[in-house]
Amino acid sequence: MSEQQPWQWDEQTWRGHVARVRAGRSLRPATWPGGARVAVALSFDADHETIPLRDGETRPGKLAQGEYGSRVGSPRVLRLLERFGIPASFFMPAVSALLHPEEVRAYAAAGHEVAMHGWIHESNLSLDPADERELAFRAADTLEKLTGTRPVGIRTPAWEFSDHTLAITRELGLRYDSSLMADDEPYELLADGEPTGIVEIPVEWIRDDVPYLLMEYGGTLRTCPSPRDVGVIWRDEFDAALEDGGLFQLTMHPHVIGHRSRMIVLRELLEHIDAQDGVWYATHAQIADYVLNHPST
Ligand code: ZN
Repeated sequence: MSEQQPWQWDEQTWRGHVARVRAGRSLRPATWPGGARVAVALSFDADHETIPLRDGETRPGKLAQGEYGSRVGSPRVLRLLERFGIPASFFMPAVSALLHPEEVRAYAAAGHEVAMHGWIHESNLSLDPADERELAFRAADTLEKLTGTRPVGIRTPAWEFSDHTLAITRELGLRYDSSLMADDEPYELLADGEPTGIVEIPVEWIRDDVPYLLMEYGGTLRTCPSPRDVGVIWRDEFDAALEDGGLFQLTMHPHVIGHRSRMIVLRELLEHIDAQDGVWYATHAQIADYVLNHPST
């Protein structure tokens, strides 16, 4: 780590930081499969108890909040997806999958994608490279053992990215990452200016339930708008993606979205989406495969 202050960096240094992991060519295809006008990629981060566990928080109160995600939220999400016939991607920390093996098997059995989301929702920024690599491989092995399929994608816990994350992602042979925010549409990740062949399926806090709906007891922020207000934002995001012929990607968490008043909003959003012509529902893996094989020019 340089001891210089940022304002003392020379041009090579600040350009180097920016170039380490960067957006390369756009992978937005000319058309979506079957002439669809918009791609819809729903994702659920099945963190459950791993959020408090990651912080060393072992008291039953916080753990129960996570347990709700598996016990109540996840079955509700699965029922809703089945009703609309929508495939989704479930990003699951390996410890969460080990705590809930029936749940992760149910995702796979229903045709959903199960993808990587850390070992115990650890922040990769706090790990040395050897630990980050070992946990990533252990997590991939664990999900493969439980589902019978090797994961092909990763969403890093809390969307953090260390200086080593992209190299580990490549070594794992993953096809895509879904943790970064440089575009609305899929793009190829560059490592120090060089194309990696890894697809980025970008996320955004705007299209995430946590910033709006997770109340932290003792925290200073009390945003928590009405779930219906959140639904309006997401609907606008979808409508604009449809107009652009692009991708609508959404990140949710069973322990957050899975409550009654919020599932109503998700159901209404899906009813709105489903009423449109030309919607392609896909897992993140399907999006990655399609955009890699259908360059726009
Ligand atoms: Zn998470």
